Amino acid sequence: MKILVINAGSSSLKYQLYDMTDESVLAKGLVERIGMDSSIVTHKPTGRPDVTEVSEILEHTTAIRKVLALLTDKENGVIESVDEIQAVGHRVVHGGEFFKESALVDAEAKSKIRQLFDLAPLHNPASMLGIKATEANMPGVPQVVVFDTAFHQTMPETAYLYAIPRVLYNKYKVRRYGMHGTSHDFVSKAAADFLGRPLEDLKIITCHIGNGASLTAVDGGKSVDTSMGMTPLEGLMMGTRSGDLDPAIVPYVMNKEELTVNEVNSMLNKHSGLLAISGISSDMREITEGMEKGDAHSKLAFDMYEYRLRKYIGSYAAALNGVDVIVFTAGVGENSVVLRKKVCENLTYLGVELDEELNAVRSGEPRRISSRNSKVEVLVVPTNEELVIARDTNRIVQSLNA
Ligand code: ADP
Repeated sequence: MKILVINAGSSSLKYQLYDMTDESVLAKGLVERIGMDSSIVTHKPTGRPDVTEVSEILEHTTAIRKVLALLTDKENGVIESVDEIQAVGHRVVHGGEFFKESALVDAEAKSKIRQLFDLAPLHNPASMLGIKATEANMPGVPQVVVFDTAFHQTMPETAYLYAIPRVLYNKYKVRRYGMHGTSHDFVSKAAADFLGRPLEDLKIITCHIGNGASLTAVDGGKSVDTSMGMTPLEGLMMGTRSGDLDPAIVPYVMNKEELTVNEVNSMLNKHSGLLAISGISSDMREITEGMEKGDAHSKLAFDMYEYRLRKYIGSYAAALNGVDVIVFTAGVGENSVVLRKKVCENLTYLGVELDEELNAVRSGEPRRISSRNSKVEVLVVPTNEELVIARDTNRIVQSLNA
């Protein structure tokens, strides 16, 4: 079965075409600047040179039409006909309390995703555009939605409720949902596989640290706590997001600076984190470079990022009453040798012992970076959210045909 995985943003659309017989990627790509002058399409057929095109793509339906044309193109295509694509899987950020797992797209699922627009105003409307655009271009092809929040629906009330009037939960479902669920799910399973130990027996802390960053406490394969909250702003310090702060700062700053709700939201989501403290960049590579050149602000940004990450690991070790495995994943987690080193150096009280040589190895495979004596296994596991979406889509569509 060939499955197209789509991750639609408000002005972008990422895609990957999978052949599920061997889970290989036939092609992937990105449409950027949808709805703006000169959209850019980057198409990457596996094993062949990338193709970049600039054209006018005003909305998502045209974007998908363009993607399908590239996938079937005589020269740069990887399939003969669109009919070969038997299902489409979509990444959807917010599944609220409706979706505890991935689901087939039908009228009910669409209505629920729409009801969640309020909770994820930047993300869910974009996913809906992707779903509608797929329907328009590929009528009758089954679609599946895979949610960032679903894996965290196993959290207990103690972890997901905020200590604010209950009426806000009852009326508006204000609570912790958590994000990056497909990644936390994937890497925790992959860690157990790598170690050859049953997932049910393991207490795992998964650190997904990319542009956005979140930690999850996984007990016996289930998410029991996670650092992102009702929105992706809570928790760790991130590239441009503040992470945790005293909520009273928000009205205080709004008052002093005469900021609107949108302005303060934008400050905390887009102008905070590594970017704000370093004054240079939201990208950990540039922060590390700055630090190595002796830039004090970059060093402070790095130190705060590491300090907050390590505090969260400590709090999740407490939440789990112990930890067997710590997993690093995503852009920073998979690549930053120095961040992993600093974090692990400060976790010796848990019995963590890093093997510096193993930590310096670069590979796209799951690997151990702790020493043989370490009481906690520390692993680097490359995440693959698209593969999870393709697998879930495959499973749900196969069950339809059964
Ligand atoms: P997203 O959250 O957008 O999916 P990624 O998981 O791809 O992001 O992570 C992107 C981030 O990974 C970049 O902003 C960069 O800071 C970080 N990164 C990538 N490579 C390295 C590296 N070699 N060293 C440190 N950080 C890196």
